[in-house]
Amino acid sequence: MTVNGILMISLVLPMVVQAGQVVLEKGPLLDFREGGKATFLRSVDPQEHVRGMASIGNQTEGVLNARQEFCGHYLDLCATYWQLDRCERALANGRLVVSAAGQAMSDDGYIGGETSTNRLFAFSLWNQAHVAYGLLRFAQTSQDREALSLGLRAADWLMATLGNMSPERLVDKELVGNVGSQHLTAFYTFMLAEAATGDKKYGDFVRRTLDGLERTGMNLLSNPDCLKLQSQKGIEMINAWRGVLLFSKARGDNRCESSCRSYWRSIADTQIRNTGAATNKERFLAGGGAPCILPVGMRPNENCVQCGWLRFTREIFDVSGDVRCAHEMERTLYNHILGSVASDYSDFAYYQGNVGKKAFRKNAIYQCCRYRGFAIMAHLPELVLDDDGTNVTPLVYSPLSYRSDDGLALKISTEYPKTGHIELRAATKVPRKLRLPIPGWCREWTLCINGEKISPFVERGFALVNLGATEEILVQLDFKMEFVRKVHDIGGRRYAEYAYGPLVLVRDTGLGDRFGEPLPDNLRYERKWEGTAFAKFTAVDGEGRTHTLVDYAHACRTNPDVDEFEVFLPLSGPHL
Ligand SMILES: [Zn+2]
Repeated sequence: MTVNGILMISLVLPMVVQAGQVVLEKGPLLDFREGGKATFLRSVDPQEHVRGMASIGNQTEGVLNARQEFCGHYLDLCATYWQLDRCERALANGRLVVSAAGQAMSDDGYIGGETSTNRLFAFSLWNQAHVAYGLLRFAQTSQDREALSLGLRAADWLMATLGNMSPERLVDKELVGNVGSQHLTAFYTFMLAEAATGDKKYGDFVRRTLDGLERTGMNLLSNPDCLKLQSQKGIEMINAWRGVLLFSKARGDNRCESSCRSYWRSIADTQIRNTGAATNKERFLAGGGAPCILPVGMRPNENCVQCGWLRFTREIFDVSGDVRCAHEMERTLYNHILGSVASDYSDFAYYQGNVGKKAFRKNAIYQCCRYRGFAIMAHLPELVLDDDGTNVTPLVYSPLSYRSDDGLALKISTEYPKTGHIELRAATKVPRKLRLPIPGWCREWTLCINGEKISPFVERGFALVNLGATEEILVQLDFKMEFVRKVHDIGGRRYAEYAYGPLVLVRDTGLGDRFGEPLPDNLRYERKWEGTAFAKFTAVDGEGRTHTLVDYAHACRTNPDVDEFEVFLPLSGPHL
């Protein structure tokens, strides 16, 4: 069970059962979500997606015209804003696009956008999987029967088509895009179809396919390592694994679950950089997480990968309860995601370097990073808190209120990550355990209950607070925020990396600093409390000049077209 989750039971038309409702309150995550929603409703015209559904035979230019993919994302967004916010406009817009899908779908259930001779190639099956996903998500939350019937027809066409391929053909890197990984995105769609119908044929197909893939270089179950599988593509492989994880949860399959957890660890251990991002040229790579200088021209840190990473990590937490999931989520959200969204919340970077100008948008037809960014905004209430019925766990500290169906009320007030002070007020009708992640960066912290400092029970990285059926209690957490400098050798030169709590601190020419200037070794930075940034520090050097550091998310916000930033700052003095 997950918060705002979907109960996986056998109903012809499943109700979405909300195990509880998280409401974000005033703070940076609420601004982010509301900003994205306003853009989505104001400037994304549903008619664009009505036309997108019908853009048959327009895929010859490869990715540039993969329009149906975004129709699928669009439907999921409409579904989510209806599910979580009861947004009538999103519901109405979604219905328009569902109706267009009904017009565009072939009699046999095909809606992947290709002409009849090209249905197995380019982005055809990828598009088909995304449209079916969007239709099924829309059906789940709106009870729209047309969306359900269209979604199932599309899923059935996809299953029949993939079922006619040998495992080798399914992942043939000459015939299948993205190093043979593209078709595996269908797993997630099939598991949604199974949840919607209770029909086991969908999960059985995923099972048979996974077993067959053991003969290939995409042997996910026995070789769950992001660097060892045939494809090291970022978002395509995360998509595939999210489907495998959904299968393992639906079927209680321990081996699949263990493979998912291993794959997740292989990314966390080797790929994620200090800004909470990964990939170069859209791929995981050996030593990917090591400090290095990444101009945006190298195509690093594709935004959709970090969006997929956030969601995969949230889903892995359900099965692992691993505190590292919370560490990874706060790092990615408070650095990369908030650092790559345009200041008006209308778009996201496609690739994001760690030096030079920040990227905040890409004016292209292919908008995977924009739509997956929108999905993070929409789904955010599901991501930040977990309630498994026994433990309630804030995964990312942020102001919010939460109410469970069985009478738990929780309110979190904080300015985190500006400060390390967090207040939680909880009242419950049934006993519950509050499980508070101790951030990975944190070495000193205190906890008070009703004003009294206590030594809490700490287990696997969580401070545990028992909630009885009593009066409201007040829990105050204080994480001692630390300013940390690390020195790295990158290409034979010394660089400094700065952090404050979970935040990466960077140089920003928009604040008056000089790009590329070697920093004296002996600077003493002090916190400067001003502006909208999470954190700003200044230091004065021997010549009386001021050097400033600002948190990564807020860098290059003064004048994004000219401001430049540096995550790793060159140090003066001898080279190594
Ligand atoms: Zn992308």
